[in-house]
Amino acid sequence: MKLTCVAAAVLVLSALGTVSAQTPRQVSLVVANGIVVTVDESNRILSPGSVAIDGSDIVAVDTPANIRRQFSARETIDAAGQVVMPGLVNTHTHAPMVLFRGLADDLALQDWLTKYIFPAEAKTVSPEFVRAGTRLAALEMIESGTTTFTDMYYFEEEIARETKAAGLRGVLGETVIQFPVADAKTPAEGLARAEAFIKAFSNDPLITPAVAPHAIYTNDSATLKAARELSNRYHVPTLIHVAETQAEAMTALERGSPTVVSYLESLGFLGAGVVAAHAVWVNDADMMLLKSRGVGISHNPESNMKLASGIAPVKAYLASNVAVGLGTDGAASNNDLDMFEAMRAASFLAKVATSDPTAVSAGTALRMATMGGARALGMDKQIGSLERGKRADLIIVSMSAARQTPMYDPVSHLVYVTRGDDVQTAIVNGKVLMRGRKVLTLDRAAVLRESKAWAAKVSAAVGR
Ligand SMILES: [Zn+2]
Repeated sequence: MKLTCVAAAVLVLSALGTVSAQTPRQVSLVVANGIVVTVDESNRILSPGSVAIDGSDIVAVDTPANIRRQFSARETIDAAGQVVMPGLVNTHTHAPMVLFRGLADDLALQDWLTKYIFPAEAKTVSPEFVRAGTRLAALEMIESGTTTFTDMYYFEEEIARETKAAGLRGVLGETVIQFPVADAKTPAEGLARAEAFIKAFSNDPLITPAVAPHAIYTNDSATLKAARELSNRYHVPTLIHVAETQAEAMTALERGSPTVVSYLESLGFLGAGVVAAHAVWVNDADMMLLKSRGVGISHNPESNMKLASGIAPVKAYLASNVAVGLGTDGAASNNDLDMFEAMRAASFLAKVATSDPTAVSAGTALRMATMGGARALGMDKQIGSLERGKRADLIIVSMSAARQTPMYDPVSHLVYVTRGDDVQTAIVNGKVLMRGRKVLTLDRAAVLRESKAWAAKVSAAVGR
């Protein structure tokens, strides 16, 4: 009798098992059998692992067997032998400036800006220009594994529309600047445009609107304060270039503060939601201020090296737990938007700057390009790692090139040998934007054709 009961219980249990095995939860997409580099709190790597996605969200990251047992997918992408990782987060760029790529190189920031970039912008920047530039930038970003980018430019509403059409996630800041620019004759007009932009894109699943006062040397105190007040009123990020060059401190000195950071503090500007691009020329007191105010840092090693701006104290930022993400800066000063290069440059530059090969390890560089960027942008609950409940922003990276063979450690390879071109598939908000190197949301040939047509106009405008 006892035995019969046990046998019956076993039968019931196995029947239940059969029922649950027969009714796995239906989800939209499973990325299966990859080397899953999660960049979660414990840097978990599942090899092999699978990621289940439903709609816009990651619903599980687990072994392929567990995912198979729990989920049935309408679509499965096999990632065997490839790395599956969070999409890269570019914390500082000026997307449409890809149309100025290679226009003027080998100059210091002020010469480069005042002799070439500002004049070229004055003659060419228009809604059509920024739309074409954003399409080219989006194509390049999708092809090189960026899934979120942070932008500071003009006609930001046009950039937002193209970003949404391409399927990318964007933290997009309408520029506020003291002198007349293409989309605003005065800073007040720039602020009004920024407010209209925020209202138009609030609660958008892909776009986080922001206010972008260009820098302290291009805005007076009143404009800087007004820009910050506007961001505070709408609870949106404030994007600004901070202490990019040593010369920038002159402006702060003229206004009665020893450093750029202390000047911003005197205005009441610093606080959560501020993303400071560069933050190269800071002293210990500045660093403490940035940390205590919860400012996010965007480190742009390639731009800083190319313009000889200086070396940001990244090791010290990381040691004091300041949120540091990586950026490419605009393509006119890099000259591309490849975040794999940014990771490698960040690691190498920190090593040579500190004479310490452990200063920024491969794992740290990878974290800066993903979770660090998400944290700097205040989006670490939504993006930056492969974890249940986060948005499904991920990429699949081939590891089959000669330069990637053999592979002992996928994280080492991602930072030290992988290139943007190795990215095979890009998924943002659960939607596949590129599959097997084919971008599905943009007409590649048309984007390249129209970019070349714009280059002819840019050349004519600056006489180059
Ligand atoms: Zn910049």
